[in-house]
Order: sequence, then structure tokens, then C-alpha cells
Amino acid sequence: MNAEQDLPFLHHPHPEPVAVDVRTAMLKNPGFGRVFTDHMVTIRWTEGRGWHDAQVRPREALTLDPANAVLHYAQEIFEGLKAYRTKDGGISLFRPEQNAFRFQASAERLAMPVLPVSTFLQAIEQLVKVDADWIPGGEGSLYLRPFMFANEAFLGVRPSSEYLFVVIASAVGAYFKGGKKAISVWLSEHYTRSAAGGTGAVKCGGNYAASLIAQAEASRNGCDQVVFLDSKDHRWVEELGGMNIFFVFEDGSLVTPPLSGTILPGITRASLISLARSEGREVREERYGIDQWRADAASGKLREAFACGTAAVISPIGEIKSTGGDFTIGDGSSGPVTEALKAKLVGIQRGEIADENIWVRKIA
Ligand SMILES: *Cc1c(COP(=O)(O)O)cnc(C)c1O
Repeated sequence: MNAEQDLPFLHHPHPEPVAVDVRTAMLKNPGFGRVFTDHMVTIRWTEGRGWHDAQVRPREALTLDPANAVLHYAQEIFEGLKAYRTKDGGISLFRPEQNAFRFQASAERLAMPVLPVSTFLQAIEQLVKVDADWIPGGEGSLYLRPFMFANEAFLGVRPSSEYLFVVIASAVGAYFKGGKKAISVWLSEHYTRSAAGGTGAVKCGGNYAASLIAQAEASRNGCDQVVFLDSKDHRWVEELGGMNIFFVFEDGSLVTPPLSGTILPGITRASLISLARSEGREVREERYGIDQWRADAASGKLREAFACGTAAVISPIGEIKSTGGDFTIGDGSSGPVTEALKAKLVGIQRGEIADENIWVRKIA
């Protein structure tokens, strides 16, 4: 099949979808990543045939051969994006083509087949439309999780000859409970997330597997999240386990670590850089050292810091803890620049603020 041609999607509606009253109860307080919708999308890829067998079908368990390569060598990538219910009752996505492009980059890095952007977008839209009743109101949204994995029963070490692309959807509320409350982060001095030439810039499950021990260390030390330094000098702040980081200074300017190949190019990060610049703020993509962070927090030159990503949007960082001592940013709570940027981004995503960059894609 020609990659430019649209794949036909077969529709198999769920014979017994979750009853309306049960669904309503599930959507009251969905939390994150526990409440799933009725359907999923699957598309197969095999050597020779390429992409085929696109289906919107009832969500169910997948059966895997115990020799499936993904279980042994972790050839797996994923994405994360949200569908929002807008005030006028419509449904919109935020920059989904950016997720499609990043999924392609991740596939290339992990020696997997590249899914056409149009197929990625179609898969998302079809799933959101069939499960539209699962989009929670209020601050909630429908979190979409496209992913792809090696699907060949073979223990030899080489790229798989078969893959399965899947999209599932999960109704979510606010990511970090407590709204505006600032998070505390643990500075990982022992573990790093990625290194030059590695996979830090792509979204693969392996990165997360490698970061879990540091996240567990953070939890043991009473912190919400872990922040990683670079693997070479153990000095430059890179990002959190699954979120990018920004620093806000007394003159109103912002700094965020540059996309050096070891951090994930977040779509939230890119959007916030644009929004801040369009408000006339200076945003510098430059390295920021842990010593400087500590000194600037102490002197008051650094006023705010926040983490950002699709799941939590923006989380203010109040406190940093490490074996070398703890320090607080500002008064330890969220600051005005953080709150203003969050309000602007969320407002655009929900269709309540003019979308000058044409980031929102209305699908219903
Ligand atoms: C997904 C992810 C982010 C955030 O990316 P968004 O596109 O903003 O959701 C940041 N860091 C890591 C490691 C990630 O996996």
C-alpha cells in the first residue's frame, strides 16, 4: 500500500459498552490512567505488507507470545495527547500533528516502521469520536495513548519484522491533586536519564523503565518528582522523569534547557516558549547548572520554576531536595508568571482564548 494513501478503518462497535450510569460514576473522579473507554484502535505492520488491518474495535486484552521481542528487548514507543470538550460542546485536540511527527522520530530511532502522519491522526480522531461520551467535563480530558511495539516471536537481536500500533483512551481529571500546590523535586545525583547518542530525545518506554529507580528514591525522600542532571558533567539540569523544566527570573525572562539530544522535545515546552515570546518575554534555551540554580534561588534572582508536559500541563516547583541540602524557590508556592502561562495555555486548549497560532484542531 502506498504510504500516502489513507488506510481504510474497519469499525467493530463494542457489543456491550459500559452502561451510561456506570460510566457517569466512573467519570466523577477518574484520577489519571485508570479509567479506560470502550474501544481501541489497532493497526498491523508486517514486512512486505506494510501498514494494514486498521480497526476501531472493542478494547480488550492483547495476547502475546512469550517470545515476543518487545518483552525481551523493549522495542516500544508511545505518545500522549489529550482531547478536550470545549464550551460550545465541541471536541478539540491540541497540536496532534506534532505528536505524529514525534512518533515518527521515535520510530526511526528505535528502528521501527514510520506511521504516516495522516494515519496517526485518523486513528486518534476515530477513537475520540467513537468514545466521545467518555470525555469528562470540567478540568478533565480524554488522555490518548498511541503506542507501537515489536510483535514478532523471535529471540534474535534485530529489529522485529512485525509491529502493532495501538491507541487507547483514558478519562482523566487534574493530574496532580491539589490544583495550584507546588511540587517538590528530588535531585538525582546518582542516576541519569539519558546520554549523548542514547534515546533521551525520543518517547520510548525504556527511558521510563530506567528512570523508575530515581523516581522511587524521590518518593522515599518525600518528593513528588525527580529532576535529572546531564550524564557527563552531572551539573546541567535536564528535565524531570516525564516533564520539561523552566526557570523564571526577577526580570521576567525565562530559561529552559536546550534540545541537545538528551531531553525530550516537549510540545508543551515548545508552545510555552512561543506564548512567552509573543507576550514580549525573553526566553533563553540555554544550559542552567545546579550550582547556579541553588545560588539564584538563595539570592532571589530566580523567582519561579515549573515543570511542564501534556499530562499535568504546568506544575510549579516549590522545593528542591538533595543529599547536598534542600532549597526553596520564592515562597515555595506557585508564582504569577507560572500561573499566567498556565491559564493562557489551558485557555487556548479549551477554546476560551483566541488561538492565534492555529494550534487547536476541532474534530467535532
Ligand atoms: C512526554 C514527555 C515530556 C512532555 O512532552 P509533551 O509533548 O509536552 O507532553 C517531557 N519529558 C519526557 C521525558 C516525556 O516523555
